[in-house]
Amino acid sequence: MKKGKKWLSLLLAGALTLSCTAFAGCSEMLDELLGSFDTTDETVKTPEELPKEENGETNEGGKTPEQTPEQEYPDIQTENLSIHFLEVGNKYTGDCTLIKVGDTEVLIDAGSRQGSAATIVPYIQNYCTDGVLEYVIATHAHQDHIAGFVGTKAAKGIFESFVCETIIDFPLTNATTQIYQNYISLRDQEVAAGATRYSALQCWEEMDGAQRSYELAEGITINILYNAFYEQTTSDENDYSVCTLLSQGDDHYLFTGDLEGEGEELLVQNNDLPKCRLFKGGHHGSPTSNTEALLSVIEPEIVCVCCCCGSDEYTKNIANMFPSQAFVDRVAKYTDQIYVTTIVSDNENGFTSMNGNIVVSSDGKTLTTSFSGHNLKFKDTDWFKENRVWPTDGVSSDSP
Ligand SMILES: [Zn+2]
Repeated sequence: MKKGKKWLSLLLAGALTLSCTAFAGCSEMLDELLGSFDTTDETVKTPEELPKEENGETNEGGKTPEQTPEQEYPDIQTENLSIHFLEVGNKYTGDCTLIKVGDTEVLIDAGSRQGSAATIVPYIQNYCTDGVLEYVIATHAHQDHIAGFVGTKAAKGIFESFVCETIIDFPLTNATTQIYQNYISLRDQEVAAGATRYSALQCWEEMDGAQRSYELAEGITINILYNAFYEQTTSDENDYSVCTLLSQGDDHYLFTGDLEGEGEELLVQNNDLPKCRLFKGGHHGSPTSNTEALLSVIEPEIVCVCCCCGSDEYTKNIANMFPSQAFVDRVAKYTDQIYVTTIVSDNENGFTSMNGNIVVSSDGKTLTTSFSGHNLKFKDTDWFKENRVWPTDGVSSDSP
């Protein structure tokens, strides 16, 4: 199947190249379709009170698409359930989560920029040794969640690097960006090559062969939750996020993409959410997500945040930079086990690992955390001590 895909890509590229000779500007089209590496480093942004993600196709991340050769891959027990929060290879915030049990993998999102493919693809290949991602979920149409599906000419994206069997993505979007168009184009090529694609609403309604719940291994399921914004329009793209609950017996793990406060409230109303051992921090630790309405129901034990900590990418207001003070204030009531992938740095890349690639594994009883970076809780990091305050009523699981 993989071989077939490669031939299809070659044929398509060939056909495009040939047809392009007839049209001026078509090399750009080819670049766009196959993914180009924009050298624009950073667009100028106006200071904002709250982080607001852009969905444009500019601002390609990182000047060097090459993967850091020393990238570390935490050891895992393949038979155990493992949940990986990946670093995305640049100074931009983005989500990429790999769930693995046995030979079955689920990938949720592929951020943060097209060049991230150079980092996330080798990481996933290290664990997904058969080249098949059984389930691929794209939560919403912002580039910090879908750009790595597209990749670049130098670093093929997820769709061109793996056989993606079942693709589940957002039913609604307002996106018109080039990266979104490229995502749709490559997704549809994957479908033409044999993949099945369902919207999260089809899954929820179990229409057209789609399922609400997929079994990954005996007793381990990934479940599509009901988000009202699967069928109700909004101006906030983040609220379109596909939400999933991973369950292993009584242990539950929640992934809500960039769902905002209103979406979280409706999520709680529309689903019978359990206590969750792990929560992927909503919207990269934004003050506009991670509301008490949700946290008080799921009472998370571990919260992992995918972001470039302290970056001014979305706001100049330090309190609101990911992970925000308001996020800390609300989560602290439930846990101090907050981990963060990446942090801004004054080195030439502009970023470095914080906890790095974060892996949470379960043997069905005990959760184990491992990190390619340091193992400090967020509240024990130097950055936290300089920029955040742990609330006085916050829990602390540190032994005296
Ligand atoms: Zn995002």
